[in-house]
Amino acid sequence: MKNVTNQSTVKNPKFDDNCIFCKIVKGELPSTIVFEDSTVLAFRDISGDFPDHVLVVPKMHTKSFLSAPSDILSKVATVAQKIGNDFVSSEKYDGTNFIANCGSAAGQSIDHFHIHVIPRKRGDRSPLSF
Ligand code: AMP
Ligand code: ZN
Repeated sequence: MKNVTNQSTVKNPKFDDNCIFCKIVKGELPSTIVFEDSTVLAFRDISGDFPDHVLVVPKMHTKSFLSAPSDILSKVATVAQKIGNDFVSSEKYDGTNFIANCGSAAGQSIDHFHIHVIPRKRGDRSPLSF
């Protein structure tokens, strides 16, 4: 998986000036990018809670999985799938969790659609609290 300095190439997406992930997409806040194309950015989660925890986001601002236009949803999911497959095929991991929290009641703390990709090893600690 590639790690490069944040350098957004996005042209004219819709941003929210107060959104942390929009600032990351624009390169105004630092991130460690693992994948980027014209629509999608994937970068390492800052929390350090799980090794190789990655967030996959659309470059355009949309609140959550629930509000994402279907073409954007598809592109973000396809990138998340690729990163999950890379984790498992690397043989460092045995599986992957994909998590999209929608709304504060569901644990969403940043209102810019993102899918958590959390690679798992057999017998490790689960990121799911239910
Ligand atoms: P959620 O609770 O589903 O909204 O997840 C938000 C995630 O964003 C959390 O796992 C945070 O650790 C992560 N996060 C917050 N700020 C940053 C940042 N500047 N760079 C990378 N990840 C971040
Ligand atoms: Zn945003």
